[in-house]
Amino acid sequence: MAAMLTRELTSGVQIPLVGFGTYLIPDDEAAAAVENALVTGYRHIDTAEFYNNERGVGEGLRRGLQQAGIERGDVFVTTKLWPQTHDRNKSTQETVRSLDESLNRLGVDQVDLYLIHATFGREQRLQQWQGLADAYNSGKARAIGVSNFNASHIDELIAAGLPLPHANQIELHPWSQKPGLVAYLNQKGITPIAYSSLAPLSTWRTAPGHASGKTRQMRAEGEQADSPFKRLAEKYGVSEAQFLLGWGLQNGYPVLPKSTKPERIRQNFDIDSFQIDSADMEYIRGLDRGAGLAWGEVDPVTHD
Ligand code: NAP
Repeated sequence: MAAMLTRELTSGVQIPLVGFGTYLIPDDEAAAAVENALVTGYRHIDTAEFYNNERGVGEGLRRGLQQAGIERGDVFVTTKLWPQTHDRNKSTQETVRSLDESLNRLGVDQVDLYLIHATFGREQRLQQWQGLADAYNSGKARAIGVSNFNASHIDELIAAGLPLPHANQIELHPWSQKPGLVAYLNQKGITPIAYSSLAPLSTWRTAPGHASGKTRQMRAEGEQADSPFKRLAEKYGVSEAQFLLGWGLQNGYPVLPKSTKPERIRQNFDIDSFQIDSADMEYIRGLDRGAGLAWGEVDPVTHD
């Protein structure tokens, strides 16, 4: 069962491989979605200061714990620091304060993983990473990491004598596979967490204002009858979404599917009953197009 699948972070904490993503879920819809996810069996929820839905997520967490008859310690909760405030970079102290504010909105004493959401400038990355290290040492975060960092961003942390991140959350799916970065992360013991696993789907971010021009063009390809994911999904007897999420799992990545639709929330959790054969894994390796889609025209991983 998908809830039982976990991977150990170097902090010793187990991260459930199937998480529930909450980007673009409004605060007033987040409680119902998170409650539904927990009742379905998800034990990992991903939010961020930037998503403006931590209150709703916290409410959904409390309701979901009750409905599912589980404890806070059974659910892995991630949130992220937004690196700027009023168009300037947050300091170490402001970073720690931001986490306190997130904990307050979520209604929890600690998070299981706290991430720097994106790279911005070098000095600020070092200061903020120090803030995350402080949060880890004080027990407010059981693990700490980064998001959208490339190898050189992480090398800077190492050169400054700071601890290694436990995880790096990046866009990973067959169109954006980042093999060099993934190899680097594996070599350093940093867990790659996959976001936007469903980007190659024609149904990805279809709500008005949710997608860029680049995405709309890619989406048109996903709609074509000869889309490789349609063919592969049919071969394995699963939906395209399940196939893409299964590809992530098979690579050992925690995945974070987001949906507000109960049927999709259920379907996206049921992804460990098939195994993609090695010939198809090899074929998919050839579909890599490099940069991702989630940040529109910007690729946050290569951006300095
Ligand atoms: P995703 O989970 O890959 O895809 C979500 C989109 O696919 C939505 O438009 C959803 O529509 C649709 N969808 C979901 N399940 C489906 C299914 N079974 N069949 C067909 N369509 C389906 O995209 P994401 O939200 O970009 O990424 C997932 C999570 O990763 C986020 O929610 C967030 O937690 C995290 N993330 C992090 C970063 C970062 O910079 N660190 C960036 C992006 C995302 P409905 O909601 O209408 O079902």
